[in-house]
Amino acid sequence: MKKMSIRKDDMVVVLSGKDKGKQGKILEVMPKEGKVVVEKINVVSRHTKPRKQGDQGGILKKEAPIYACKVQRVCPKCGKPTRAAHKVQADGKKVRICKKCGAEI
Ligand SMILES: [Zn+2]
Repeated sequence: MKKMSIRKDDMVVVLSGKDKGKQGKILEVMPKEGKVVVEKINVVSRHTKPRKQGDQGGILKKEAPIYACKVQRVCPKCGKPTRAAHKVQADGKKVRICKKCGAEI
């Protein structure tokens, strides 16, 4: 299986589907399924029934997972879709940098 390069809290842009072009933050990464949950992307409504007296019931909106291959990371610095490059710093710490602007992401 392909290793996922996306992590929680990354900004991504959706490449296909009904949310194409929209950007959002990664809320959850599901490596086994190869899926991610993105804030405000692929939101599904679920009708809930009141469970007890005084409970209102209504519509519950929740993000459904989408395939990680359908999103691309967006650099928070330059705002462009990018692939992260890995760089090892002098102290041996690995950092991810934006290939477009060189910012640490
Ligand atoms: Zn950048």
